[in-house]
Amino acid sequence: MILNQSGSRGYRAYTSKHLDELLMRAGLDDEEKLRIRAVATVLPFRTNAYVVDELIDWSATPDDPMYRLVFPQADMLPEPDVSRLAGLLKAGASKGEINDVAREVRMKLNPHPAGQLELNIPRIGQEPVPGLQHKYPETVLFFPKQGQTCHAYCTYCFRWAQFVGEPDLKMASDDIGQLVGYIRAHPEVTSVLLTGGDPMIMGEPVLRRYVEPLLELEQLESIRIGTKSLGYWPQRFVTDPDADDTLRLFSQVTESGKNLAFMAHFSHPREMESEIVTKAVARILDTGAIIRTQAPLIRSINDDPATWTEMWRKQLTLGMVPYYMFVERDTGPQDYFAVTLARAYEVFRDAYAEVSGLCRTVRGPSMSATPGKVCVDGVAEVAGQRVFVLHLIQSRDPQLVGRPFFARYDPKATWLSDLTPAFADRFPFEAATVASARLSA
Ligand SMILES: *Cc1c(COP(=O)(O)O)cnc(C)c1O
Ligand code: SF4
Repeated sequence: MILNQSGSRGYRAYTSKHLDELLMRAGLDDEEKLRIRAVATVLPFRTNAYVVDELIDWSATPDDPMYRLVFPQADMLPEPDVSRLAGLLKAGASKGEINDVAREVRMKLNPHPAGQLELNIPRIGQEPVPGLQHKYPETVLFFPKQGQTCHAYCTYCFRWAQFVGEPDLKMASDDIGQLVGYIRAHPEVTSVLLTGGDPMIMGEPVLRRYVEPLLELEQLESIRIGTKSLGYWPQRFVTDPDADDTLRLFSQVTESGKNLAFMAHFSHPREMESEIVTKAVARILDTGAIIRTQAPLIRSINDDPATWTEMWRKQLTLGMVPYYMFVERDTGPQDYFAVTLARAYEVFRDAYAEVSGLCRTVRGPSMSATPGKVCVDGVAEVAGQRVFVLHLIQSRDPQLVGRPFFARYDPKATWLSDLTPAFADRFPFEAATVASARLSA
């Protein structure tokens, strides 16, 4: 245990170095442990003492949802790849040799879905601006360089490519001047979303360097912070040495007349059980910030309606606002975590039916795909045909937002790219988007 100045338990990260030791608690045999270590050569692994000691129920592993949220599983990757890597580990192969094979496996996993690299990177003149994404007119995403890691990694993370040390897969910036310049040149931008990784991994002085210059921009109505820190390290807002300074920075944002929206990622109600989370939420709300919540729907972690009902209710009680349920993106071990669109809709509907109107601020299930955020509104029988009813919650082309459209019902479909239009020869966004990007994600 590491103690900081205030005497509370300090942050302690565990990485793949500690994997063997941690897995002892899961009661796995040597062969299983080896296969998990093989998976961890490909996908990033990181967790911390709070997650391990307070969130995971070790008596329920390997089925425990919190365990599955952060620990790699032997069957997350194709069996031949896992066997090949396990063989290398067992034979004591060199780091270089293992990395070469791990890299090969990674490249098969669609590391950058939804045209992230090409389509959304803005330019000043001809020059691409690194660390920025501008997909929807009103919102710019910024990836601060020091915020590209997290207090723990989710096994299902669609940003996993950023964590595995492949320099050409990283996109981040420490050039706040460039961000400010870009926003000034784009009067349609009213919201900045700091994202990562997790921006709350940054200490207060660094976070302040990014946030303060934004307060000068009159056109900005809101600053958002996308974060899982309330789930993985709520101490950040309560006992960490810079907790109070961080909250003062939040107050400064709201006092400047801007909305500070804390976009909190919670995967499971367990993450809201500890007392320190309750405290952290109350302290953040005290600054005038709003906490909105979001999470993807993940097989074997939260794929039943009761989990979501409990989650949304608990969030409401603590003063948070349910915002999005996402469909897992088509990257990484997607087959492993994928829930069909038909099932996703059922889970959403059944959970939604059980909560009061105050929780029905939530939208979903939503796919963040190339044309925008596509919501599955339901399954219906129209003119004798079974169809999915869909609409765009967000779109590159604002003309298309909120207009219903249809796809042929397919019980196996897990992503937009699996769907074909019904009653039309193309989807509405296909006429409007770049032809080459057609349904690529
Ligand atoms: C979701 C998202 C946003 C924000 O959309 P809202 O509907 O305003 O929450 C902005 N940019 C990208 C790329 C997104 O995926
Ligand atoms: S907290 Fe978010 S960015 Fe970090 S690993 Fe989880 S899903 Fe990925």
